[in-house]
Amino acid sequence: MEKRELLYEGKAKNLWFTDDENMLIAEYKDDLTAFNAEKKGSEQGTGALICKISTELFALLESNGVKTHLIETLDDTNQLVKKVDIIAIEVVVRNTATGSLTKRLGVEDGKVLPFPLVEFYLKDDDLDDPIICEDHCMLLELVDDHDKLDFLRQKGLQINRLLKEFFEQRGLNLIDFKVEFGIDSEGEIILSDEISPDSCRFWDIDSGEKLDKDHFRQNLGNVKVAYEEILKRILGDK
Ligand code: UDP
Repeated sequence: MEKRELLYEGKAKNLWFTDDENMLIAEYKDDLTAFNAEKKGSEQGTGALICKISTELFALLESNGVKTHLIETLDDTNQLVKKVDIIAIEVVVRNTATGSLTKRLGVEDGKVLPFPLVEFYLKDDDLDDPIICEDHCMLLELVDDHDKLDFLRQKGLQINRLLKEFFEQRGLNLIDFKVEFGIDSEGEIILSDEISPDSCRFWDIDSGEKLDKDHFRQNLGNVKVAYEEILKRILGDK
């Protein structure tokens, strides 16, 4: 499958049309997203690491009944994916309080939550992706019926159960993550975008070390080394 015109240039990846109208190529770049435009960065090879990690995690989820947009990983940085209409809601699931939750609500950093918390954020860079409630989702017509919000919530929780257990077995605590969904040509809601250390937080269970993009944001060291460690744990004996 060949790349045609560029559909969209994002912070961390580009999306290309292909000769099949229902398929796109997602090309991962080396740019890392962080708090905002001032704290941008790039490290050679992180695009390939994120592509590989997301490929592995999407395969794990697919094999456990979560439908995703991934058709095939073409090479180190390119994936063939189903073309979807992205739902403009970022679904965040949290197991431990940190980041914006502690800032917004004063919950103690590092507190293990009594249940997985699901939050919706508006996918809108100009507005800085504000947190929204279900009524906002309906008001802004982000979905056309309320059941779809329940579906997003349940999928978020299912993904959390699968990933949390998978990472625990590999010595990593899944603190929180963000996922995005899209509607495919058959009208089905499927997991889209990526799951990677750029969109999840992982803390080492033994040392507490942060092996995710906070590593880069808080200048804790070489982010590529942290991402390589995550990939190593994911692959295990593979
Ligand atoms: N997240 C993301 N993209 C965003 C905002 C958040 O991937 O635009 C992820 C982030 O990596 C973390 C989770 O969503 O795993 C919760 O992020 P939070 O709301 O704490 O915001 P942050 O502190 O990351 O700005």
